[in-house]
Amino acid sequence: MVISKEDLMKSERQAAMVFDLNKCIGCQTCSVACKVLWTREDGMDYQWWCTVNTQPGRGAPKDWEQMGGGYRDGVPNPGIIPTREECGGGWDFNYDEVFYGGKGRSVHLHPIGEAPTWGPNWDEDQGGGEYPNSFFFYLPRLCNHCTRPVCVEACPRNAMYKRNEDGVVLRDETRCRGYRFCLEACPYKKIYFNYAKKISQHCIFCFPRIEKGVAPACARQCPGRLVFVGFLDDVDGPIHKLVREWEVAIPLHPEYGTGPNVFYIPPLAPYRLNEDGSIDETTPRIPTEYLEKLFGPRVNKALDTLKAEMAKTKNGGKSDLMNMLIVYHWHELFGPFTKDPAELTWK
Ligand code: SF4
Ligand code: SF4
Repeated sequence: MVISKEDLMKSERQAAMVFDLNKCIGCQTCSVACKVLWTREDGMDYQWWCTVNTQPGRGAPKDWEQMGGGYRDGVPNPGIIPTREECGGGWDFNYDEVFYGGKGRSVHLHPIGEAPTWGPNWDEDQGGGEYPNSFFFYLPRLCNHCTRPVCVEACPRNAMYKRNEDGVVLRDETRCRGYRFCLEACPYKKIYFNYAKKISQHCIFCFPRIEKGVAPACARQCPGRLVFVGFLDDVDGPIHKLVREWEVAIPLHPEYGTGPNVFYIPPLAPYRLNEDGSIDETTPRIPTEYLEKLFGPRVNKALDTLKAEMAKTKNGGKSDLMNMLIVYHWHELFGPFTKDPAELTWK
């Protein structure tokens, strides 16, 4: 049977995530949960399928927003393949010396070998603006399991596809020949080349977990309780409500044209201060142009809605949106994926 690209790129349902950027503390628990679970094999040392960067910043891979890819006028637009160094290299540490060298507290962990020149969140907490109105926020990033996955379209081996039942973008590693057209095409630069296996690899939305009703590791381990998971068409679930009804969850760089299914509640920030220390309630601390550059023009409506709903509660009223974002009950984050992984049998 001949399978068309169209067949590989469509799905009946779409799983999605929403990250509330107002609650992210940049702790990297999501990054580490993913790393420990999925990217510990040979050739994966430098792979971080989930990374959290400080914004404004150059990101990981370094300057990924300038690397091209995505669609232009509806046609795949090949971009640059990030180098291993731009992704952070994969540092080696002096573990043996510290843990087994018998040197006590006289030694500490540090990278060994060639000095690293970049890494995930290299520009940690630098941010932007001028004191006292400086600002930053954290931006967790992973594969967006796009509705129009240009990586799938670009693969000449038909190794990549969207799963029909949940829209998760996967790869058949036995078909992949490591041509890296998917890396060129992905505008989010969230595919990594495995230098040992000579194939490309990327986030799998923890599909073995979601098949058993368990939320992806990045979401479940997040101590900030800010990552919602579910299906976009589940009208009673938080994902549908935040993305489609309230329209406060919006995608990153929608202009890339791939239809990302990781959405973000944009960051509010404290009020700006005037020179005399009084509060300026009219000028946003995070420049609107900067947020528009990241999230497109819809960010303004999203922020207006958030502010209006916050004001309601401040004035003693009730807000369903604020209640949803507070997440009184942890499991409400995970839609149908609320099972405890510790209680299941894994083969
Ligand atoms: S984020 Fe990149 S790798 Fe993931 S589905 Fe979209 S285009 Fe493909
Ligand atoms: S685990 Fe949660 S709070 Fe920590 S960096 Fe990731 S998304 Fe942010």
